[in-house]
Amino acid sequence: MKRSPLASEVSFTVVTLFPGMFDGVFGESIVGRAREKGLVKVDFVNPRDFSTDRHRKVDDRPYGGGPGMIMMAEPLFRAIRDVRSREPGGREPWVVHLSPQGRRFDAAVAAELAAKGRVVLVCGHYEGIDERLASAFDDEVSIGDFVLTGGEIAAMAVVDSVTRLVPGVLADEAVQAESFFPPAEGSCRLDHPHYPRPRVWRGKKVPAALLSGDHGRISQWRSRAAAAATRRKRPDLLRSKEES
Ligand code: SAM
Repeated sequence: MKRSPLASEVSFTVVTLFPGMFDGVFGESIVGRAREKGLVKVDFVNPRDFSTDRHRKVDDRPYGGGPGMIMMAEPLFRAIRDVRSREPGGREPWVVHLSPQGRRFDAAVAAELAAKGRVVLVCGHYEGIDERLASAFDDEVSIGDFVLTGGEIAAMAVVDSVTRLVPGVLADEAVQAESFFPPAEGSCRLDHPHYPRPRVWRGKKVPAALLSGDHGRISQWRSRAAAAATRRKRPDLLRSKEES
């Protein structure tokens, strides 16, 4: 699979009813530093600000009955339209509906989003979003076959994993040594095991090759250990490589 080059910086807009949920996660560690350096930008849009209702209502009961509330189309439609109208002439935003019914998020999708440069992540809540809004999205992405209470945690996972791929956020070798690199379907393996100090921990030794100081031997050991880990834990990755 040919990949598009990664954008030199990525900007995210998260459309969410709960922007406060992101404070700690996006303010700390690697994502926090990437934001400080201006390599990654994140802003938030609250659909409640686009409600036409005087109580700023954004959800309602579904026709046909059933449990729970549904996010209404109009406030979300206005929020997305507002985001799309910003910076005309700049990068077109790629608007993603985070949903358990979307295509499965993985390293290849993360690389795809990193290449877009401008990504809008729309978080559903309650029982989901009015189906009539489907045509407002460019993409529908799920972070796995399970149901979250809202799209916020999915948005955090997407922003975190895409941020790692933005040039300058991490050393290139660090990204390339990780599991699932290169992030194209059918050609990846897991990372090799890692051992920090001490040399012996509760009777368990660091493999001798890693203490040898011989770069060739270390590299050969790591490559074999990565292949063994992939065979043992994720043989499906090797099968898809053979099939491609
Ligand atoms: N009724 C929906 C269904 O069964 O397909 C589930 C709605 S879920 C309770 C509420 C919101 O959480 C969704 O609109 C979506 O934004 C988000 N969400 C839940 N699971 C998700 C997943 N696996 N990946 C991405 N977003 C998810």
